[in-house]
Amino acid sequence: MSSRTPADRLGDLVEAARHAFRRSYLREPAHTVAAPGRVNLIGEHTDYNEGYVLPAAIDRHVVVAAAPRTDGTVHVTAIDLGESSSFDLQAINVDTAHPWSNYQRGVAWALQGAGHILTGMDMVVTSDVPIGSGLSSSAAIELATAHAFELVSRLEIDGVQRALLCQQAENDFVGMRCGIMDQYVISLGQEHHALLIDCRSLEYRAIPMAQGPALVICDTKKRRGLVDSEYNRRRQECERGAEALGVRALRDVTPETLDARASELEPVTLKRCRHIVTENQRVLDAVAALEAGDLPALGELMNASHVSLRDDYEVTGPELDAMAEAAWGLDGVIGARMTGAGFGGCTVNLVEQEALDTFLARVPEAYRAATGLDPEIYVCRAVRGVHRVK
Ligand code: ADP
Ligand code: MG
Repeated sequence: MSSRTPADRLGDLVEAARHAFRRSYLREPAHTVAAPGRVNLIGEHTDYNEGYVLPAAIDRHVVVAAAPRTDGTVHVTAIDLGESSSFDLQAINVDTAHPWSNYQRGVAWALQGAGHILTGMDMVVTSDVPIGSGLSSSAAIELATAHAFELVSRLEIDGVQRALLCQQAENDFVGMRCGIMDQYVISLGQEHHALLIDCRSLEYRAIPMAQGPALVICDTKKRRGLVDSEYNRRRQECERGAEALGVRALRDVTPETLDARASELEPVTLKRCRHIVTENQRVLDAVAALEAGDLPALGELMNASHVSLRDDYEVTGPELDAMAEAAWGLDGVIGARMTGAGFGGCTVNLVEQEALDTFLARVPEAYRAATGLDPEIYVCRAVRGVHRVK
């Protein structure tokens, strides 16, 4: 484990970005922006059923340093990749040679599409959000880019609107189907809080996180091979369930209604619906537990969420199950569950501070023994969303 504190880590990224900016463009950056990664505490696969999610922004960041240009060109240097790409704001096209730059292009395209007048800019980007682990490095890149455009172009965009435009960039320019959760919490997250987001109304409430326990994310290092086809299949199964039950979305079904009408659904559809309907209730119960300071209740809900994703929604797989089980077996673990779409990626864990050292020694060991894979562990805190760094 690194002994660097979270503030050190962000400070190092900011220094690296500003230094690289000066070297690349031979002038001072005018603005530096930080956008965090995110983790979902509970509420998995509920977003596309118009339900509830409870994510937090975490202290791993994408940092952008930028300064305006007068010629309507955007020049991007990706320090971590050692590559650059530029485009003209009047004719934004997809760059197949530098696919990473389509996030910046997509954000510019979406902002302009909404009627915002953009100024060109030079920018550099660097990050310590792991790529492709499910902590949403992509949405962090989008939000950092959007905020940099707001600063150089002197725009004021409301946080929800900014999130929607970044989602549009990812959906329609990059071509990746995703819900609104990631962009939303990275746009609007608050320090020491999670956000309860209603994915139907797009309203949110900041929920204070328990200050005591550590928020620990365990990356299985299993990449999510099945995820696209199975994700689409689950969405269809949910739509079928909603149709059979005569509702617009499974959000409108309570656990009691589902029990009463179980015989109307075929067995697989029933299992999928049961996960969504009980998971929505667990999000609301988790909020109540956090607000009451009832950590054991919160932990039970996290564990139950994993079991429901394993048995009813069937999206965990041996690696995520092994990681959750390694945590469940230890004293001082309040709760542990898979987070993200499933089939690989990460678990999220709440761990008592006194138990953290044991956790960091034992969970990787047990996971390695079960799977032969080397995990990565991130000890995190809940931080504010995208912001300008002074
Ligand atoms: P994640 O789960 O991390 O969001 P995605 O596949 O959705 O994974 O997004 C990862 C992509 O985002 C990368 O392939 C790259 O195009 C872009 N990206 C992430 N981090 C960086 C970075 N540090 N520099 C440049 N591009 C990045
Ligand atoms: Mg992503």
